Amino acid sequence: MTAADLLHTLGVPAAALSGGELRARSPIDGQTLAMVHAATPQAMAAAIGQAQAAFLAWRLVPAPRRGELLRLLGATLRVHQPALAELVTLEAGKVRSEGLGEVQEMIDICDFAVGLSRQLHGLTIASERPGHRMMEQWHPLGVVGVISAFNFPVAVWAWNAALALVCGNALVWKPSEKTPLTALATQALLEMALRQFNADGGIPAPGGLAQVLNGRAEVGQALADDPRVALLSATGSTRMGRAVAPRVAARFGRCLLELGGNNAVIVAPSADLDLALRGIAFGAWGTAGQRCTSTRRVIVHSSIQAELLQRLERARASLGVGDPRQAGVLVGPLIDGAAFEAMQAALAAAQAQGGTVLGGERRWPPGCGGDLAHYAAPALVSMPAQTEIVCHETFAPVLYVLGYDHFDQAIALHNGVPQGLSSAIFSNDLREAEAFMSAAGSDCGIANVNIGTSGAEIGGAFGGEKETGGGRESGSDAWRNYMRRATNTVNYSRQLPLAQGVKFEL
Ligand code: NAD
Repeated sequence: MTAADLLHTLGVPAAALSGGELRARSPIDGQTLAMVHAATPQAMAAAIGQAQAAFLAWRLVPAPRRGELLRLLGATLRVHQPALAELVTLEAGKVRSEGLGEVQEMIDICDFAVGLSRQLHGLTIASERPGHRMMEQWHPLGVVGVISAFNFPVAVWAWNAALALVCGNALVWKPSEKTPLTALATQALLEMALRQFNADGGIPAPGGLAQVLNGRAEVGQALADDPRVALLSATGSTRMGRAVAPRVAARFGRCLLELGGNNAVIVAPSADLDLALRGIAFGAWGTAGQRCTSTRRVIVHSSIQAELLQRLERARASLGVGDPRQAGVLVGPLIDGAAFEAMQAALAAAQAQGGTVLGGERRWPPGCGGDLAHYAAPALVSMPAQTEIVCHETFAPVLYVLGYDHFDQAIALHNGVPQGLSSAIFSNDLREAEAFMSAAGSDCGIANVNIGTSGAEIGGAFGGEKETGGGRESGSDAWRNYMRRATNTVNYSRQLPLAQGVKFEL
């Protein structure tokens, strides 16, 4: 199907797809898919005003009723999963199964939010005062702003939207300027769910509850700066986080940052190399290396380094690079020319820093737009040390391999980068595996054993430390980020004892 057909199926009006100033482009062949309207900072301010008004009504709707909206969104997504996934492939360049997987994540978080709608619980805490009860309540927070990256153009919105909405908040979304069409389609699906919700006879949702505004960084900045935005959830590069976080902090707003990673896999002498090979190959070169959780570094024991390198090289050379819609293709295009240039610059720097580079050259798969699109052979780089370029996140299919002799050395190399998102060890040694997950082990938000770094389930909290920004979204108790906590103490006695035994007798 063409982009126009897909968008029509997904309920996006044709008028939204032409006459705008933002070019929606497919990385598959570089062709223009649509010209989309870009919002202004003034339009953003107006949208936030509407969202604030919607919040005041939505926060009073009982949470299980709010959960019904997420149930309907999940059902709508199930029906439209193939079309939305195809649009993700077209606009972000993911292979088909990954496009479908991304929409599946949206469905999964909707299911999670439905259950959560009856589980937004606080604690009851023993009071030190007789005849008193102390408890915590979690209340809706306000307007949640979402800034998202191109590489998960719909799932990141869903992780935030499902939790924000079920927690009683309103939502304003600034998607990546590289993926405006998937954003419009997602919004259209949400509006389908809202229409059903408002027609079922229950408490309706207020207008302006969830909005999308396409645009570039300045529109995101308007979202970051507005004091009516109680929480800004920003996903993207560390550079973007550095720009927005101080602005939000300056107005005492809350930030949830999901920034860049530099994820490593340790391969220990006892590792099952077949498993390690598959985990590393998918992590490093799948999604053309364009996941925040992509494997960027392998830290392998010197006794098996030569064997692993040889097997990785065989796997690398066999990967099909090309149109992600074709069977047999596992590596699609880079998002644009700038991404390709950044990859080439990283490979040149790696070479200059003593690395041996295999692959990485430009490819021109037939029927893929010639020079208009940017495909690259995955790269495998042997490094003599963890040099400056290895410490930098290059958002492309580049894998650096480093050797180690002692486990402590592996952990030191592993943690010796500024980012802290995802990590893994392949080992059948229980002591090593536990040490890797211990307080003295991996310093990342995600630490896996015998699976790779890439991909996560929505049940766990997702996010990372250090330059990754410290945020957590998706599962576990990440919902608390989208609520405010109130501590309540109730006195049901006939006395007024003060805390800590303080006396104040009148
Ligand atoms: P990017 O930082 O270029 O853009 C991300 C978003 O931020 C876009 O919507 C962009 O318009 C906006 N933006 C950029 N500068 C801004 C500013 N000054 N003020 C307000 N908004 C601004 O990132 P990208 O190239 O789209 O995505 C790739 C990056 O995102 C990688 O670093 C990757 O690791 C990271 N990422 C992280 C996660 C995570 O969960 N940790 C998930 C996906 C992507």
